[in-house]
Amino acid sequence: MNVLRPFDPWRNPLCTCPPKYSFQPYTGCSHSCLYCYATSYIRSRRSKPKSDLLRRLRKDLRLADRRLIVSMSNSSDPYPPEEKELGITRESLRLLLSYGFKVLIITKGSLVTRDLDLIRRGEVTVSVTVTTLDEGLSKLLEPGAPPPSERIEALRKLSRGEVPVSARVDPVIPSLNDEPRELEELVGRLADAGVSHVVTSTYKAKPDSLKRLITAFPQEASYLKRIYREEGLKFRGYRYLRKELREKLLRPVVKAARYYGLTYATCREGLTSKEFFNAPSCDGSHLITLKRRGLNLA
Ligand code: SF4
Repeated sequence: MNVLRPFDPWRNPLCTCPPKYSFQPYTGCSHSCLYCYATSYIRSRRSKPKSDLLRRLRKDLRLADRRLIVSMSNSSDPYPPEEKELGITRESLRLLLSYGFKVLIITKGSLVTRDLDLIRRGEVTVSVTVTTLDEGLSKLLEPGAPPPSERIEALRKLSRGEVPVSARVDPVIPSLNDEPRELEELVGRLADAGVSHVVTSTYKAKPDSLKRLITAFPQEASYLKRIYREEGLKFRGYRYLRKELREKLLRPVVKAARYYGLTYATCREGLTSKEFFNAPSCDGSHLITLKRRGLNLA
């Protein structure tokens, strides 16, 4: 396989994702989120299309297992601003669907609605990440991504177009976007936009992303350093917060999801009790099956 790779080949014991492929049309990511983990191993900061992408994808698709869904994408956004001109995600999606693959699109790019015509035709679900309703905070945290209001409108448009949609409320970062009332309001807005599943997780620190956050929010520097570097736990190259703190941060999200009748899950937290996880899949890929069966997702 060339550009289509098995997801999580390292078998993270905390990963609850179903077996799937991972496919990224771009390397690097122009959304430039401060908390991004991918920058620790991908040097390029701006989105660059992979060379000879479509030919390589076509080759992989001939050999790939059609029973597995394709997740697009996990370490770079498939709808960065560059996609408007380049259209390589659109062409990749067209190809994936023509080979009969099911697709989970994960993005912060409202440009995804441009491809509604293709998305509607295939077995596709879309997951849009929204970390806060605070446009100013989002501008600092995710400077290259569309504002939260645009992302929520994208979800609404997709949902009205009968596309099953979920949202990622992640990462929740202590002292930045962890205000319980705001998280509850955010989930309410997502439900109103037609989302039927929410996945959430806490920020897991990598040395470079923690440094960026500390530099951008100097007033939180000593707190963040203490809870991650001194009190946090090392796990697979990340620093995790203590479990009680992670539960506290995610509780408002799952509580609100329950209130609005959404399914919910946590991502790589080891929190799999009913309180934190009640969905058939964490990543929202189960919505594809529901769509195929023609079930009402509202
Ligand atoms: S959108 Fe995702 S891949 Fe892109 S910078 Fe943000 S966190 Fe990283």
